[in-house]
Amino acid sequence: LMHLTRKLIEIRSILLSIDQNDALKLPSIVVIGSQSSGKSSVLEAIVGHEFLPKGNNMVTRRPIELTLIHSPPSQTGQAEEYGEFPSLGLGKIHDFAQIQRTLTDLNLAVPASEAVSNDPIELKIHSPYVPDLTLIDLPGYVQIASMDQPETLKEKVSALCDKYIREPNIILAVCAADVDLANSPALRASRKVDPLGLRTIGVITKMDLVPPDQGAAVLSGNRYPLHLGYVGVVCKASRPKGSDSTALIVRKVENEFFSTHKEHFGASTSLLVGTDTLKRRLMEVLESSMASSLHNITNAVQLELEDATYQFKVQYNDRRITAESYVAETMDALKAKFKDYTTQFSKPQIREKLKMMLDEKSMDVLEQLYWSDKRAPELTAIGADPRVQPENVDAYWRYKLEAASSLLTKSGVGRDSTNLVAEGLRTLIESIASEEPFTHHPEAAERLMDFSHMILRDRVGVTADQVENCIKPFKYEVEVEPQDWQVGRLKAIELFEKEIGMCEAKVKEIRKRVGGSRRLTSLMGYVKTLEEQQADRKARRLAAESSDSDVSLTDDSLDETQDYRYTPAQLLDARHAILYSDRLGILSLRLAALKSKRCKKGPESSQLCPEIFLNVVANKLAYTSSLFINIELLEQFFYQFPREIDSRLIYDLDRKEIQKFARENPTVRRHLDLQERKDKLEEVMKSLQSLVNLRKDAQPQKRRS
Ligand code: GDP
Repeated sequence: LMHLTRKLIEIRSILLSIDQNDALKLPSIVVIGSQSSGKSSVLEAIVGHEFLPKGNNMVTRRPIELTLIHSPPSQTGQAEEYGEFPSLGLGKIHDFAQIQRTLTDLNLAVPASEAVSNDPIELKIHSPYVPDLTLIDLPGYVQIASMDQPETLKEKVSALCDKYIREPNIILAVCAADVDLANSPALRASRKVDPLGLRTIGVITKMDLVPPDQGAAVLSGNRYPLHLGYVGVVCKASRPKGSDSTALIVRKVENEFFSTHKEHFGASTSLLVGTDTLKRRLMEVLESSMASSLHNITNAVQLELEDATYQFKVQYNDRRITAESYVAETMDALKAKFKDYTTQFSKPQIREKLKMMLDEKSMDVLEQLYWSDKRAPELTAIGADPRVQPENVDAYWRYKLEAASSLLTKSGVGRDSTNLVAEGLRTLIESIASEEPFTHHPEAAERLMDFSHMILRDRVGVTADQVENCIKPFKYEVEVEPQDWQVGRLKAIELFEKEIGMCEAKVKEIRKRVGGSRRLTSLMGYVKTLEEQQADRKARRLAAESSDSDVSLTDDSLDETQDYRYTPAQLLDARHAILYSDRLGILSLRLAALKSKRCKKGPESSQLCPEIFLNVVANKLAYTSSLFINIELLEQFFYQFPREIDSRLIYDLDRKEIQKFARENPTVRRHLDLQERKDKLEEVMKSLQSLVNLRKDAQPQKRRS
């Protein structure tokens, strides 16, 4: 018979882990009573250990779901007794004082202002001395609220108890013998939901505190009859608390008490007394309650299971997943995606990017050395003069070209080109980390970025040095082949045309903004006059200062005599337009030069066509840099990245973390939840079925005997 309770207790805890649906609840024994009625003492007497929180200040603030598991002593005769908090994962606790401390901490974690919480604490106790039982210890009913307790405490406790004393639970109503049963809040609450006492057992504690005849009268239950009756107990420890043999002493005191008063409580009286009797009574009642729930619960589980099976079929087409498979798939997809993206980092693409960066640098060099040079027009003029041969061009231009080439080759190409590619990789990883499914896994995304950055940090310095080293020869000399020259020339023309296009677009934009070309022209004229006046004034001031004259200059505030036709923004636009047109002038001149016969000729025209020469240099720099960046940075990164995924994202995850990771993704969580629910229901259904069959087999035998 005990088999049934035990099995159903197991089933009960599985069902509780599925959901809190009332239909899926198997009965448990709920212990209620007012504060100090002796509730804790009764529970401890049943368990045979002191383990409940003690103290005057409302120490039970959360329900304790106590599951007692009868576990026979091991073969060596060792009686192993221990407790477990399944949701805390602390493992087996053999020291009951430790269990008591843990329970106290868990209870005190509920803020005093809230006083009680509905969130139950799960505790399992394994021992050869306990029967298979599930008990729920609830906060005691408040009789007199103390000053420091919230007003609503009384109601909160009542409401919590009301929630638990619903069907199919069995109510253990604890009342002290020395308090009139008429005043017992436990009995009052139970009568509301179970008027006949069909599922209420009365426990009368402190039997030693009243005269035996009075105690016996209470147990007879004549005044407040309960179908399941009353059991009288004495659970007073007369030894100092915490001592090992407390339980034994308690038992002895109880036995002595009831045997001293045989005439009132003896077998002939048919009254139920003693903790052992209470234990047996609880087992019987729970067993028969479980047995009668069997049919209903089987039907309820069947319905839930059908629903879960149907949902699983419809939503997931019966496809099973595991957290492990999700992690593995996610990582494979990550690697595949990474591989896909790395095609953007082929050598020609890198070379192209580097060339663009170097082209910009060349433009800066040209601007700095040539376009702002007062002799610049001269260069164009001698370029157009067929009488001037390359070998008799002024040495000025030869030095100029050397300076330009040197500015470009010594501009930190190693560092800049390496950073450019590293930045590209960083952006790539960032975009992967911010896409599905990593949007659900912020921690993993962060780790992904962390180790990518780490690989890059490791490589960037080395690569930059290596590149810088390899382009070193170009700092001294750049040999230009006719072939290089022709390519460079076309590229330079392309670049200039693009630059001209950009400047024109800017001017056009400004023209549109200020309201047409006539307006822009007059704006520009105005700004030019302003600037000339300013320059003029400055010159005069300088002259005055150097001539030491005392002539005080009329502080003509022409700047401030704003022409109100124009807004400051328009004046700024006009200044920009002037700059762009100046630049356009130079660019067009130079473009014409680049297209001229002289520049077409070949490398010997380098001094006259520095744009082409710099383009060739930039091309060589890009080519060499890309070679070494490829070996030192990209290859290394592409090799290490997938390996780091394995070692840093997966291998150091334990089972729990894998579950956590998978469940971060809501789609996967729903899938896993439904699958688990279905599995558990199936398992429960199988156990229930076998119990039902066992009982079917057992019943005809019973009738025969
Ligand atoms: P709870 O607040 O309902 O959990 O009550 P406790 O179990 O903490 O008991 C309250 C007080 O009553 C404690 O001081 C116990 O020692 C005492 N007590 C409990 N059971 C008995 C008993 O059977 N006889 C006597 N004399 N005192 C008891």
